[in-house]
Amino acid sequence: MKARAKKPTIPSLKEDTVRHAIMALLGGEAVSALDISREVRIPEREVYGHLEHIRRTLRTTGLRLQVVPAACGECGFIFHKRTRLTKPGKCPVCRSNHIS
Ligand SMILES: [Zn+2]
Repeated sequence: MKARAKKPTIPSLKEDTVRHAIMALLGGEAVSALDISREVRIPEREVYGHLEHIRRTLRTTGLRLQVVPAACGECGFIFHKRTRLTKPGKCPVCRSNHIS
């Protein structure tokens, strides 16, 4: 495939395009932020910001973004009370940072 001369080396999608792509992924099975970052090709940390925005947008349309609570990979502790979408850094029970 021949690349066009004017194409930037790093393809930068418009914010809206990224959100539409993420929303398309959210319509199906549960996906992790990492899955989304790979599919949409943005850094994982940027996924959370988009998800926050999408969650606000969905609220106005009566739809709901269902969030699977983060869990500790060591002891199985579930972060039920967490409302922020970002991944917790450490498990409060065993101090592990293997959070999924
Ligand atoms: Zn733990």
